[in-house]
Amino acid sequence: MIKENLLKIKSTLPNHVTLVAVSKTKPKSAIEEAYEAGQRIFGENRAQELKEKAEALPKDIKWHMIGHLQRNKVKYIAPYVSLIHGVDSERLLEQIDKEAQKVNRKIPILIQVHIAEESSKFGFSTEEVKTFFQSLDSNQYPNVEIVGMMGMATFTDDQQQIIREFSSLKLVYDWVNENSGVNLTILSMGMSGDYKIAIDQGSSMVRIGSSIFGSRI
Ligand SMILES: *Cc1c(COP(=O)(O)O)cnc(C)c1O
Repeated sequence: MIKENLLKIKSTLPNHVTLVAVSKTKPKSAIEEAYEAGQRIFGENRAQELKEKAEALPKDIKWHMIGHLQRNKVKYIAPYVSLIHGVDSERLLEQIDKEAQKVNRKIPILIQVHIAEESSKFGFSTEEVKTFFQSLDSNQYPNVEIVGMMGMATFTDDQQQIIREFSSLKLVYDWVNENSGVNLTILSMGMSGDYKIAIDQGSSMVRIGSSIFGSRI
């Protein structure tokens, strides 16, 4: 089923949208099945699990860290991760910079923005993110490359609310590209339940788990 699910979803994605197959909690065999169907980008939300899978599975897989990342866990993923989605504080950014330097890498990251009306999600507020980019000094984090933003909408059936939340992220993303010296290219928004809305609102990267691998227990 994994292969069928994957190919079906991929056939509906516009060319400019990158698919991250969210394999958190799933066994290596499930990832291998998706790999055989051509998928190369996988998302994990636990640092040790990412490390363990990265060491065991093919080296051309690109591992994305998608969930909340604690500073003391950055060291586990620094050698392996190709994109960190959930950077929600400057302290975490500093830590990533430090660990990236130790392994002689420049790690690409996304700044997480809090767009959901529910308070349980992490991230900079839309005001904080503007201030952050405006005061960012290009040499501040030499071992980090800030390439975009990530956000999660509220878990709700209210489509209008989801549209509002994603469009608010697209607005800040465009604002930052127009008003600060950076050139952001990745806007990571959309999961199994809301990725179509996210794409309509300007997403360039979707993170899909259960629609590919089945529900997590
Ligand atoms: C688990 C997770 C996803 C995937 O969720 P599904 O609903 O299974 O597609 C996407 N993004 C983040 C940050 C996640 O933690």
